[in-house]
Amino acid sequence: MARKFFVGGNWKCNGTTEEVKKIVTTLNEVEVPSEDVVEVVVSPPFVFLTFVNSLLRSDFHVAAQNCWVRKGGAFTGEISAEMLVNLSIPWVIIGHSERRALLNESNEFVGDKVAYALSQGLKVIACIGETLEERESGSTMAVVAAQTKAIAGKVTNWDNVVLAYEPVWAIGTGKVATPVQAQEVHCELRKWLHENVGGDIAASTRIIYGGSVNGANCKELAAQPDVDGFLVGGASLKPEFVDIIKAAT
Ligand code: PGA
Repeated sequence: MARKFFVGGNWKCNGTTEEVKKIVTTLNEVEVPSEDVVEVVVSPPFVFLTFVNSLLRSDFHVAAQNCWVRKGGAFTGEISAEMLVNLSIPWVIIGHSERRALLNESNEFVGDKVAYALSQGLKVIACIGETLEERESGSTMAVVAAQTKAIAGKVTNWDNVVLAYEPVWAIGTGKVATPVQAQEVHCELRKWLHENVGGDIAASTRIIYGGSVNGANCKELAAQPDVDGFLVGGASLKPEFVDIIKAAT
């Protein structure tokens, strides 16, 4: 089954109202391949979600950067999946390595969040990836398989899941994975899905790469058979994000 190229822009904890308006205005004016060819999703901080959702062109979509693991209630500071749905936010990023590392989100917790967000009707960009230490000790596949298993164990319908492979050593470091390194892990992940979840799901699930993707390195990465798009951090705040979207063709 053909997998539509997917480009996500993770703005992380950045931006003022003016800056956000500027980015959206730029995005609204650019010419990019059609929605049939590439799915574009931008993820502003929570406080700008509705603003961006109302201003952004209709062929691009919006993602939250996180949501609470269960139904809302007495969870100070959290945002529930139901609230995102209520605000017509279609996507959410879950399990980003910054949250795993800085906020101690475990594989289990990430799996629970993915399942709950899906149950409420959100589409999920689920992030996985190994640290430098794990790569150097040869455990990359074991680590990403364990992370994927914690998600796969709780997901029954994969239609609304995009898997983002983001090696921690590549995030925000300028040290992008080589096309060979990215393809190797993506291919192994697809094999893992094939063996553990099912052939159809392995064939249809988008596995996107994240970690220091920019306008200069995106083309070669996009040419890899198992790289179905990108999750872009730093470069998603810059005009070169458009070049990354164009890597779809
Ligand atoms: P980066 O971040 O592109 O700035 O490396 C990617 C991400 O964290 O999603």
